[in-house]
Amino acid sequence: MRIQDLQQQLSDLGAKPLHVQRVLRQWVRALPLTAGRRRPEDFLPLAVREALPALEQQLQALGRIQSQHPGEDGSARLLIALQDGMTVESVLLPREGVCVSSQVGCAVGCQFCMTGREGLIRQVSSAEIITQVALARTLRPVKKVVFMGMGEPAHNLDNVMEAIELLGLQGNIGHKNLVFSTVGDPRVFERLPLGPVKPALALSLHTSRAELRERLLPRAPRLTPEELVELGEQYARASAYPIQYQWTLLEGVNDGPEEMDGIVRLLKGKYALLNMIPYNSIPDLPFQRPSWDKAREIARHLHQRGILTKLRDSAGQDVDGGCGQLRARALADPSQPIQIRRKPSA
Ligand code: SF4
Repeated sequence: MRIQDLQQQLSDLGAKPLHVQRVLRQWVRALPLTAGRRRPEDFLPLAVREALPALEQQLQALGRIQSQHPGEDGSARLLIALQDGMTVESVLLPREGVCVSSQVGCAVGCQFCMTGREGLIRQVSSAEIITQVALARTLRPVKKVVFMGMGEPAHNLDNVMEAIELLGLQGNIGHKNLVFSTVGDPRVFERLPLGPVKPALALSLHTSRAELRERLLPRAPRLTPEELVELGEQYARASAYPIQYQWTLLEGVNDGPEEMDGIVRLLKGKYALLNMIPYNSIPDLPFQRPSWDKAREIARHLHQRGILTKLRDSAGQDVDGGCGQLRARALADPSQPIQIRRKPSA
């Protein structure tokens, strides 16, 4: 179900735009549809009021929390079961954020990502994206939503933009606290500036070398790092908000001096922030996580050369659940609880 189907359903019952807004607002804020400052009987048409209990059930059926996996850093990974039995991952982030999935599987096929291994299975609908936020809100306050879970949001643009619009207009999420994360697709740069809600943009760069990027992200659009940064800069200036460049730090792959020079060449003077995230090693994949000391040294070096760099750990590092892993393990053996790995005390 898409949000627009829900809007249509309400209109068919005689709801005016204000009534529709009210119902959607309650849903996205994880409040009962019948609650609110004004009583429904003073406000909503009778046919809409009578439909609310069934509607509430319909929305609740869109997804449920199948399992929760708290991390030591205050985050928690959630495995969400959708109505058709498919599962996606959401992550409750420290400081009132939630990371949501926009697809079941993903077609980009990044070599270091578990989700990329299974290919695209299906799109996550706009209503299922809102469901992930509403479920998160049953556990904690949510003031920030990042589209960095399973899937490439650019490959599900209509659903993602519909969800962003509702979150920004009715969901009490500041527009700059909505973060659209992409490997870089020309359609994103055409579409994002047009909506009533302009989210912040995170671009997965990972390397300054075009041929390495083609190998690491085999089915990403063939934009060179230079072209990607150029498009990013235009959006940053237009939206008055810096681009977050994502760099998954892979030992011996993109952590050498040549890449550091490449980062400076690409990002110096740009309206940008570099998020450097040491890779979360996955047993089945052939990449390694560099030591935290090495990552810290790289971040310090880039800072000294004028690049605003933040070193971040991926949320829930200690939970055996890098993007796509919870789902993969639950599929492999649904009877086994997902293992919690303790983070080495580095
Ligand atoms: S890292 Fe993101 S874009 Fe790449 S395969 Fe995984 S989910 Fe898709």
